[in-house]
This record gives sequence, C-alpha cells and structure tokens, in this order.
Amino acid sequence: MATLAALDRDGARLEIDSKHADALRAALRGSLLLGGDPGYDESRSIWNGMIDRRPALVARCVGVADIVACVNFAREHGIALSVKGGGHNIAGLAVANGGLLLDLAPMRGVWVDPAARVAHAQPGCLLGDVDRETQLHGLAAVLGFVSATGVAGLTLGGGFGYTTRRFGWTTDNVRSMTMVAADGRIVRASEKENADLFWGLRGGGGNFGVATNFEYTLYPLGPEILGGAIAWRAEKAPEVLELFRTMVFEAPPELALIAVLRPAPPAPWIDKSAHGQPVVALFVCYTGKVEDGEKLIAPIRAIGSAVGDIVQRRSYVSQQSLLDATQPKGRRYYWKSEYLPRIDKDMTDAAIKHAAGIMSPHSAIIFFPLKGALNRLSADHSAVGNRDAAAVLNIASSWEKAEVDVANIEWTRAVWRDMRRFSTGGTYVNFLTEEDTGDRIQAAYGKNFQRLVDLKTKWDPTNLFRTNKNIEPVR
Ligand SMILES: Cc1cc2nc3c(=O)[nH]c(=O)nc-3n(C[C@H](O)[C@H](O)[C@H](O)COP(=O)(O)OP(=O)(O)OC[C@H]3O[C@@H](n4cnc5c(N)ncnc54)[C@H](O)[C@@H]3O)c2cc1C
Repeated sequence: MATLAALDRDGARLEIDSKHADALRAALRGSLLLGGDPGYDESRSIWNGMIDRRPALVARCVGVADIVACVNFAREHGIALSVKGGGHNIAGLAVANGGLLLDLAPMRGVWVDPAARVAHAQPGCLLGDVDRETQLHGLAAVLGFVSATGVAGLTLGGGFGYTTRRFGWTTDNVRSMTMVAADGRIVRASEKENADLFWGLRGGGGNFGVATNFEYTLYPLGPEILGGAIAWRAEKAPEVLELFRTMVFEAPPELALIAVLRPAPPAPWIDKSAHGQPVVALFVCYTGKVEDGEKLIAPIRAIGSAVGDIVQRRSYVSQQSLLDATQPKGRRYYWKSEYLPRIDKDMTDAAIKHAAGIMSPHSAIIFFPLKGALNRLSADHSAVGNRDAAAVLNIASSWEKAEVDVANIEWTRAVWRDMRRFSTGGTYVNFLTEEDTGDRIQAAYGKNFQRLVDLKTKWDPTNLFRTNKNIEPVR
C-alpha cells in the first residue's frame, strides 16, 4: 500500500494511505500539492524567513467547498491542519510541519456595496486588495499599515492601523464573519446569529474554524488624504518625541502619528548622507480635510532640519503601502511587543537609549497609537479586549543572515525586558512570536481568556484548529 508520511496534531508520525490523498485531490476544485510539485514551495513560504516548515500536503483552495473538504479530511485522518491567509504571521502559524496546509491565496475576491457601506472579503485577501476596491468608491475599512498583510489573520486577531483612533479595532468594524467549523458545517456569526461565536471570532484568532468571509463596515475616506513621513537625525529624537508625546493623543482622532527609531533605510526620500545613520521618523496620516491636517502638523514641520519629508496630499492607497518596502518577504524577523497605557517621557527616553544599540540596519523601535474609539467599549465587548491600551510598542528586529540570529534575538529580548515595565500587562496576539505561548497568550486576552476557553470547548472540543496562538479546550 502506498502511503504518505505526515504528522498528526500532536506531532507524532502518521501514515496516510495515498488513495485517501487521491480522493481529496479529486474532491477539490483547486489543486493538491506534494513536496516537489510546482507551487509547493511558494505555498509553504511565508513572510518570516526564519520559518522553514514542510507540510505533507498543500491544498490551494479556490472556494468554500474546498475548505470544507479539507477540514473534513483533517478531522477524519488526524493530520495536523494549518491555514494560510496572507502568510504574514511572525510566528509562522500559517504552516505546520507534516500537516495539511490550506493555502487560501486563490480566494481574493472583494465585493463592495457602496450604498450600504460594506465590503465582503474572501479569506485570501491582502489588505491592499480591500483598499483597492473600496477606494474606488471613496470608502475604506479599518485595516493595518502594510498592504501585503492578510486580512484574515489581522482581523481574527484584532487589527489596528492608521484609522484605529477614529474607529477602533478592525474587529470592532466587522459586521459578520462566516466560517467552516470543526465538524465541516458552514456557520455565519454576527450580533444576531451565533453571537457567542461572533464574540470569540473578534480577537480569538483562528481557534474556532476557517473563516471564509469577512463583512466590513466602510467609512467615507480618501481617495486623497494628507500623509507621508518626516525623518530627522537621531540627535533630534528627544525634541521630536517630546512633540510626538504631547500631540499624539491631543490631536483629533483623524490624525495618526507613528514614531519610529531606526537606522535610516536607503530610501530615495531620505538625504543620502543619513542612509544607515540612526534617525527618528514620524509617519503621519490625516484622514480629515487636508487643509486642517496641514495646520495640525505645522508644529512637526517647525522642528526643522529634517533629512526627509514626504508628507503631502496623496492617495489613501499610497499611504497604506508606505511602509511596504521596509518589510520584504523572506528576511529574518523577530519581535517583542507590549501594550502601553499612555506614552510618557520615561518611555520615549528609554526607547531613545535602546535605539542607540540597534544591531541591524533593518530593526526599529516603534510606537503605534491606538487611543480613541477602542477605549470607549467595555473590556468584554469582544475577545480582543485590551481596551485600556493607548498604544502598541513594538521592538521589531530584522536582519539577513542566520549567523546573527542569536545576537539579534538577544538584543530584542534585552530591550523588551527593560521596556516591559511600561506595559499595561497586555500584549497583541498578532505580534506574538513562536516562543510566546502559555502565559503570553493569556496576557493577550486578560480577563477574556476563560470565556475563550469555554467557547473553544463548545466549538472545537478536539482542538482541530491548533496551529495558532492556541486556546486549549477543556476535555
Ligand atoms: C509586515 C507586517 C505588518 C503588520 N502590520 C500590522 C498592522 O498594521 N496591524 C495589525 O493589526 N497587525 C499587523 N501585523 C500583524 C498581522 O495582523 C499578523 O501577522 C496576522 O497574523 C497576519 O495575518 P495573515 O493572514 O497574513 O497571517 P497568516 O500567517 O496567513 O495566518 C496567521 C494566523 O491566522 C490564521 N488564519 C489565517 N487565515 C485564516 C482563516 N481564513 N481562518 C482561520 N484562521 C486563519 C492562521 O491559521 C494563523 O494561525 C503585521 C504583520 C506583518 C508581518
């Protein structure tokens, strides 16, 4: 009997009769790939080049029926199951060694209803796919900062971006989701249908099923906004971050300011003499009237001596991809992150001190603002919680060669150990690395954790969906 070597959900060896794999292939509209097949390596490769895992089978799903067939196959044969949306998760949660990988990349449809101000997005969509379609109508969903990120992982874990101060978490702006449950059923969740599940899907990651559709609320925004970035040499960091601190939450929520400390990339908008030198940069996005934004940011420009300034009228789509070039697929990445209750001078001073020791030209210490709409909902409004957070601190390391993995990871951890004292105690589930399990997952959910355990026990009692920041069911 010909068999296929695989791993089960606990990582133990598993032999699957090849005729079962053939039957799955025949049942799919998309393709089923084995190691060596054209497309196999493309499907298993993800954004973080540190992750190199080999699934036993890759199903390139083109529709919900393919997803149902794969979920049923995984449940019946005991093979590990993983789901790849945009493949951007830093922990590599899209791919399980020896498992069945559901690659949703072929499912990138977006349907916009401009009158109702909603968009439906399929689970293989990248953020840029949704922006591109919604912006045709001068509308936008609440999404993140890098256009190649997958909507699925981002939304299921919470999601924040330039418009979060105005509108809250991405999940606060989802009207419904549809998913394939562990038993193969197609289930829709909204405030009115399966409300318990809807609560959990808004933050609980891929723990409950494979999402097949996201229904987003859209807001009138763009197509033209005021946005871009301004950079100064690191000597200016105390002055720049002082202004940042005083402005970031005082300004109307239409203004998002992101502060970044890092060596300057060789970007054409930055003076050549500063390339590779430590800089401080503010990324600016104002989604109100451009003229009002110009006035609001005048004090930032008044600092003077910038080594680059590309804040200008631009399309919202171009703003949404401004950071893309700094985050190429395949480089090595390691992050440590915390939610901050406010941004104090001692936090920015500590960040400036640590930035002086950055080891790689690609690494950065970043403050993302959140404060605004999301803090106005109760902590248990949905699973994502963390409604006491005013900002996200991310110590984002990135480098090229495996030989310097240890040094870069150690540097990141050392900075985090120091900066942790400023945390709310919570951390963003979507920024957790491979090693962040157990108490770090609990920290991501705080008081919502136990309710998630109860939901998991109800919806996925055998923990079929476990290649994620896993919430274990009670057995
Ligand atoms: C460069 C970069 C920029 C980022 N910027 C932001 C940002 O601005 N805001 C923000 O909030 N986050 C941001 N993130 C974090 C991002 O939200 C997470 O990495 C998220 O997991 C990415 O989703 P994905 O679909 O690309 O991930 P994948 O790696 O494909 O999947 C991540 C997890 O989600 C699960 N999953 C994927 N699709 C489905 C599905 N259809 N159903 C069920 N489970 C599924 C996977 O199984 C896995 O557990 C960024 C990440 C990167 C790398």
